[in-house]
Amino acid sequence: MEYAIKTIGVLTSGGDAPGMNAAVRAVVRAAIINNIRVKAVFRGYKGLMDDEVQEFTSQDVSGIIQRGGTILKSARSEEFRTQEGRARAYATIKKEKIDALIVIGGDGSFTGARLLAQEYNIPVIGIPGTIDNDLWGTDATIGYDTALNTIMECVDKLRDTGTSHERLFLVEVMGRDAGFLTLSAAIAAGAEAAIIPEKATVAEQLEAAIGHGRRKHKNSSIVLVQEHAIEGGAQAVAKVIEQSHPEYGTRVTILGHLQRGGSPTAYDRILASRLGCAAIQALLDEQRSIMVGVQNSEIVYVPLTQAIKYKKNIKDDKWQALQVLSI
Ligand code: ATP
Repeated sequence: MEYAIKTIGVLTSGGDAPGMNAAVRAVVRAAIINNIRVKAVFRGYKGLMDDEVQEFTSQDVSGIIQRGGTILKSARSEEFRTQEGRARAYATIKKEKIDALIVIGGDGSFTGARLLAQEYNIPVIGIPGTIDNDLWGTDATIGYDTALNTIMECVDKLRDTGTSHERLFLVEVMGRDAGFLTLSAAIAAGAEAAIIPEKATVAEQLEAAIGHGRRKHKNSSIVLVQEHAIEGGAQAVAKVIEQSHPEYGTRVTILGHLQRGGSPTAYDRILASRLGCAAIQALLDEQRSIMVGVQNSEIVYVPLTQAIKYKKNIKDDKWQALQVLSI
């Protein structure tokens, strides 16, 4: 490397995810112990362009490991997608004497980080933080486990009321263009079916899953619908079912931003702590333009280009398990 890294910047970007604070805490403390100064950048790339920067000490990240959301705030910025926007961001980087940048976010945030690294030759390290778990090269992303548990608890509660009234509940789950949260939550909550973008669920299959349960005198049925699997989401599915089966007493619940909140699970706190430390280690090892991830419980370093380019697949055994277990 041409120069030693004396100061890093850290930011959270894109959708917030529980465990981002634990990652920030780990980055700050792992840096300080290695005599690297930390500049916290507020509001993601927007804050980087607007110079919303503050030096952090170890005390600044005290008492945050259990808190959901992100103390650094997050934002989406259209301007950063432009070269002019990234030039403004680089002006802050120079002014604040930031030698390397750590970006906690999803694939959009990593795309922006990679462009910044290419255009200005600055080392960047990505830490996967998104409830969607849609990043290739890592088994898990920070926030996914917490969101999964939140959805499962909500569906458990819906089942209590669903059973009392013998209703069909359609529960809409987040996930952008990925069905990981929906499928895993469906298995964990014992749902009858899941509608996800990766698998075409034809009306007949859905009818079969629900109708089968009815014939077996199941008291209630629950189907999880990924928000973008079908245009119009769970409401659109409900319209179709209501027409053919008004007797089902179909109800729609949209979990919405509930899914992002809450205190991170132990799994997410530990994952975030490991990845935060690994990100600093990667910089000390002179790595750049990589994402730190976890595969088979081991820390891995994945080129950002690959993490962005490749698509993570739904595990077939999970899909099959849902079909088998919903009979
Ligand atoms: P999540 O998966 O939780 O939504 P994300 O990081 O994918 O997180 P995005 O909204 O896609 O969230 O991206 C966050 C920010 O990253 C954007 O607001 C934008 O500033 C920057 N970004 C996204 N895509 C690009 C791109 N193609 N070029 C430059 N910057 C980008």
